[in-house]
Amino acid sequence: MDREDMAQSAPGADNQVPDLPDCNLYLTDEALVAGVRREGAGGREAELETWGARLGRADLARLATEVNRQGPALRAYDRRGVRIDVVDFHPGWTEFLSLAFAQGMHGAAWTEPGPGAHVARAAHYLMHGQVEAGSLCPVTMTSAAIPLLARESWFATVRPLLASREYDAHDRPLAQKRAMMIGMGMTERQGGSDLRANLSRAEPQGGGWFRLTGHKWFFSSPMSDAHLVLARDGDGHSCFYMPRWLDGGRRNPVRILRLKDKLGNRSNASAEVEFEDALARRIGEPGRGIATLVEMASYTRLDCVLGSAALMRQALVQGIHHARHRRAFGRLLIDQPLMRQVLADLVLESEAATALALRLAGAFDRADQPAEQALRRLLTPAAKFWVCKRAIDVTAECMEVWGGNGYVEDGPMARLYREAPVNSIWEGSGNVMCLDVLRAARQEPQLAAQTVDGLARAHAGEPALRAAADRLLAALALGAEEQQAMGRMIARDLVLLVQADLLLRHAPEALSRAFVDSRLGAPGGDAFGVRPVALATDALLRRAWPE
Ligand SMILES: Cc1cc2nc3c(=O)[nH]c(=O)nc-3n(C[C@H](O)[C@H](O)[C@H](O)COP(=O)(O)OP(=O)(O)OC[C@H]3O[C@@H](n4cnc5c(N)ncnc54)[C@H](O)[C@@H]3O)c2cc1C
Repeated sequence: MDREDMAQSAPGADNQVPDLPDCNLYLTDEALVAGVRREGAGGREAELETWGARLGRADLARLATEVNRQGPALRAYDRRGVRIDVVDFHPGWTEFLSLAFAQGMHGAAWTEPGPGAHVARAAHYLMHGQVEAGSLCPVTMTSAAIPLLARESWFATVRPLLASREYDAHDRPLAQKRAMMIGMGMTERQGGSDLRANLSRAEPQGGGWFRLTGHKWFFSSPMSDAHLVLARDGDGHSCFYMPRWLDGGRRNPVRILRLKDKLGNRSNASAEVEFEDALARRIGEPGRGIATLVEMASYTRLDCVLGSAALMRQALVQGIHHARHRRAFGRLLIDQPLMRQVLADLVLESEAATALALRLAGAFDRADQPAEQALRRLLTPAAKFWVCKRAIDVTAECMEVWGGNGYVEDGPMARLYREAPVNSIWEGSGNVMCLDVLRAARQEPQLAAQTVDGLARAHAGEPALRAAADRLLAALALGAEEQQAMGRMIARDLVLLVQADLLLRHAPEALSRAFVDSRLGAPGGDAFGVRPVALATDALLRRAWPE
């Protein structure tokens, strides 16, 4: 232990709380372990345990602070004035991407398929996301692009680079690289939700290649080796694969105008770009680019749920840890009844989010089963809406558990809080997700009704589930305009029903009872700790984070 480590772990004579020590992010998370086994990735536990120890190291947490403090910077020209459009990162960024690649989060669920492949990836994501969230953006987009590219005749030329577990940060042509990353570019100045408004244009160039002009207003991970972008192509919009380098060793003219100065997600670069006759090849069906990219978004939306559950988990752990060490009015915070009520309420939210995220990942593994496919279609946007929204509230509340120390950048809480809203905004903002839930329900009305009804029927002794299901079924039968206005309620209630079902079947009784009573059976819930139900706090807190 060096001097800095010793100082940071010394018990606080001044009532200051030591940093979290090294811990195993897998073994200390009972909900994660149980979910991994239940959803079919039990065979991957040894690997997850090893990674849990690696990712739970205190030095990595400190590095995460650094890479977010010193964010990326644009270097548009080299010293001779040649346009290079390069983004420079803190050296720790390479470390986090190397870890993410070694874990296989950028594509192993597709390139190394097998039982529980998506669930195992989800478990990695839930751990990595607790340490450094910004590095998840490039690996999410890379992974989500693979099933789309796999349908192209030339996929074999990039597959080995996508399957590699070694991160390659070099900015050079693919022929000289050991691995690659892919981003996505849809959002333009005039809008990101309504992609039909996209103005970028593609003109055929011959040999399957197109020349693109236009811009993208948000273009994350601009140093990726390629982006999938949307552009007008004749009367419709098509999806294009736009490499960073062209054959012959020339940079594709994708000009980075500036980097976004973001609230959170500061380690990761998001750019505004302009295409100056950039070359790209069309993928998927001509004119069906929006559908192609919506498929990609169905994968990235799962990752938004996972990323949000990860933020909640880390905020909760930090909150409980703080309360176990900080004293006020002569007692530790953890021993104060009101603080225990708040923390126990947060435990319910975090465990329900983890269970739901892993259930959803399991549905991706079982996509060949029609019922799982239907559940995935309905539940993904609902979970993206509700879990991402809850993460904002959970990280805010956990920050307050730290008091003033939570609000300053010396500790992790401010960063967790600033990180939370982006998952709700990108990849389809909250309302857009709720509208997508309604669309899915309209596409398969009987399946949606059966799913909702089935969740209540599975728990005949739980009147609160029946009441919620009946409310939901009535809302699903409304006319389109009225239904839209209730979209958020519908998405929330669907998620709460699935979470209640999961916890009733798989969590300790004290936890599931408290969840059902507080989320479905009681009024209120505007803030954590206000619900008029008795939470079994001792058991809940010990389960959430062992002392
Ligand atoms: C950090 C960051 C990185 C990003 N990276 C990328 C990237 O790499 N690639 C990319 O393509 N995009 C990226 N985005 C853009 C993001 O996907 C969009 O911001 C998002 O889809 C919303 O689009 P918009 O900003 O144009 O908002 P708008 O489309 O203008 O929507 C504004 C609000 O209106 C709501 N709304 C829209 N339609 C309706 C409706 N019919 N009824 C009710 N409410 C509605 C939305 O939910 C939203 O809350 C990024 C965004 C951020 C913040």
